[in-house]
Amino acid sequence: MDRRLFVRTLALPCFAARAADADARFTVEARFYEKQPHKKIKCKLCPRECVIDDRERGYCGARENRGGTYYSLVWARVCAAHVDPIEKKPLFHFLPGSTAFSVATAGCNVNCKFCQNWDISQVRPEQVSGTYIPPKDLAALTRRNDCRSIAYTYSEPVVFCEYVLDSAEAGRAAGVKSVVISGGYVQEEPLKQLCRRVDAIKIDLKGFSEKYFKEVVNGELKPVLNALAIIRKLGTWCEVVYLVVPSLNDSDEEFRSLARWIKTELGPDVPLHFSRFYPEYLLKNLPPTPLPTLERAKAICDAEGLHYVYIGNVPGHPAESTWCPKCRRAVVERAGFAVRAVHLDKGKCHFCQQAIPGIWEG
Ligand code: SF4
Ligand code: SF4
Repeated sequence: MDRRLFVRTLALPCFAARAADADARFTVEARFYEKQPHKKIKCKLCPRECVIDDRERGYCGARENRGGTYYSLVWARVCAAHVDPIEKKPLFHFLPGSTAFSVATAGCNVNCKFCQNWDISQVRPEQVSGTYIPPKDLAALTRRNDCRSIAYTYSEPVVFCEYVLDSAEAGRAAGVKSVVISGGYVQEEPLKQLCRRVDAIKIDLKGFSEKYFKEVVNGELKPVLNALAIIRKLGTWCEVVYLVVPSLNDSDEEFRSLARWIKTELGPDVPLHFSRFYPEYLLKNLPPTPLPTLERAKAICDAEGLHYVYIGNVPGHPAESTWCPKCRRAVVERAGFAVRAVHLDKGKCHFCQQAIPGIWEG
């Protein structure tokens, strides 16, 4: 089902905001900013640190200065919602076979040329329809749809971070987990707060050179690496995705540097997903990633000693499954987004008792 259709039909029409009071209900004071002279503010949510005059917005378009106070305009303003397999995020070491109630609000703090969701990430909140779903209702919807977790996804959860924090808390009280799907372009303090409240974070690392980040993402690599190191240090479950774009970020050298950095800074057990690119948005001129390129990336990272290297967006490929690094048997068998079998006993390989890191129960 199309996710906007889902919002219209299933997501409790009674939550739909009336136009007259919609803006007030969606507007909350931002949590990460500094006041400056002359009613200016400096946003401290992401590394852009936008300095914003009164009545103006930051780069992401989702936050506005009103008289020297900074506001998020997207609290509970859900523009997309859908029930997804957790494997679609992808999170492969997190409650396999479960579903996540997945939500987004409008806006993003970068502009990836390959964005699949540019119609909600690159617009202002008022340019797409929003459904009012406050945190307790989001948690209730998650349970009603038999989902084990809320996923903050599709656009960039960093720019709707106040809603994520409040919803994760409401979710926890209602017995549902929270997972964040992010580009990781975020400052340290909001990231630490996210880590304390959510159960897993998937970071789209996108590339491994500042040049690529500048030219294709309109962001920076270094803060994303810093964010990954912080997540790992704080112990929040983390998986990394690298979208392989033909001719732009697919060299042996990039794959090798990536593997070495992950092994040294995060450890060999952090799952790494090489995802196939399909032509989208501003990169329609490029072909889909050839399968041999993805297999080359995996082979390089396997050889560098990473334990869980996956290939994504290639349904039926053996590298969709989780293989025990000790006995080499499949401990989670997948086909596309479906989980065919799980051979784990309390987080250990059923065949050789090797511990497989992840959140497998609960
Ligand atoms: S979150 Fe938005 S307003 Fe804040 S610094 Fe980033 S782009 Fe600018
Ligand atoms: S970070 Fe995600 S939502 Fe934002 S532009 Fe990039 S791909 Fe799109």
